[in-house]
Amino acid sequence: MSDALDAPEAPDAPDAARLDAADELRGRRAAFELDDDTVYLDGNSLGALPRTVAPRLADVVRREWGRLLIRSWEESGWWAAPERVGDRIGRLVGAAPGQVVVGDSTSVNVFKAVVAAVRLAGDGRDEILVDAATFPTDGYIAASAARLTGCRIRAVPAPDLAAAAGPRTVAALVNHVDYRTGRLHDLPGTTAALHEAGALAVWDLCHSAGALPVGLDGHGVDLAVGCTYKYLNGGPGSPAFLYVRRDHQDRFDSPLPGWNSHADPFSMDPAYRPADGAARGRTGTPEILSLLALDAALDVWDGVDLAAVRAKSLALTDFFLRRVAALVPPGRVESVTPAAHAERGSQVSLRCPSGAEDVMAALVRRGVVGDFRRPDVLRFGFAPLYTSFADAERAARTLAEVL
Ligand SMILES: *Cc1c(COP(=O)(O)O)cnc(C)c1O
Repeated sequence: MSDALDAPEAPDAPDAARLDAADELRGRRAAFELDDDTVYLDGNSLGALPRTVAPRLADVVRREWGRLLIRSWEESGWWAAPERVGDRIGRLVGAAPGQVVVGDSTSVNVFKAVVAAVRLAGDGRDEILVDAATFPTDGYIAASAARLTGCRIRAVPAPDLAAAAGPRTVAALVNHVDYRTGRLHDLPGTTAALHEAGALAVWDLCHSAGALPVGLDGHGVDLAVGCTYKYLNGGPGSPAFLYVRRDHQDRFDSPLPGWNSHADPFSMDPAYRPADGAARGRTGTPEILSLLALDAALDVWDGVDLAAVRAKSLALTDFFLRRVAALVPPGRVESVTPAAHAERGSQVSLRCPSGAEDVMAALVRRGVVGDFRRPDVLRFGFAPLYTSFADAERAARTLAEVL
């Protein structure tokens, strides 16, 4: 049992209703299409649907596509949407305008970022460090990028990356939050240590963008990628984002220099000349329908302070851990999510040594939707814009019943 699970329930612990009443973000839930019978704790895998999306998409389909047709690339702003939506995400991850572009999947953007990091690195560097517990796609893609560029891969646990970087290190590719355990890695410290060793920091923000403040510019991150269908609620398969720090943009050399990243795409010039700025990270024609669904989904963030999101996220996960400890029979589950706030993302992962898959299936049948990761992990994601303390209470109670 972790410290959080061992903590005795304070006799005067505020209950869920009181915590919800005091929650400054509670009004945001109404911006989502959520049914009150379901406790949705899988927003770390597929975010809930914001109400703004369906009407916007209907207009995009019927009017912008159906009536304006090709004119929409200019008149409806389709052509510039990857950078425009990128800037909206930039605000949420601490990037000033002009450094984030939206398009392609996270997997594809990992490829661009890792190869570009090798091309940015000085001579004599041929080692790419990869977070040993990385989400698999990052590891597969980094291995291929290494083969293509004549580098080797070394897998290192994320907390040890700072010490592992040396004179041969090109870059480290790190998951900001571990998808399995919910552990938050030290982005400022690891980035600074990599720089100290002359290496670049490439962060994967899939489980932190929209869940906590990231501070890309402030911490000097070199390159970053992230997906938009988790805490950013962009919808299934919505396009990912790529951040290229402004100081690197002139030397950013994409391994996928499609015509959309050309300085003058409609010149149809046989010779490639890269665009300036974030557009250099583009590849081919943007995924307009899913990109504009994402654009509409981002409206829920207008006026939201990421510090308030973080405070609520920690309060929710603290509360859930406390209620699980109070309600679930001892010994049935153990938290693998760090108790320390500085090491916790926005999910709680409980190891359930016996029958975890069946336990999650039973939870889902009772209207509590989390997910199961082999071999024995129950994951519960807390999306501060729409998860309530009452949801956390019901999830803990239902888990106790099932167990
Ligand atoms: C969700 C996730 C991905 C997903 O990549 P796709 O290309 O969108 O399938 C990649 N990396 C991490 C760390 C993730 O959590």
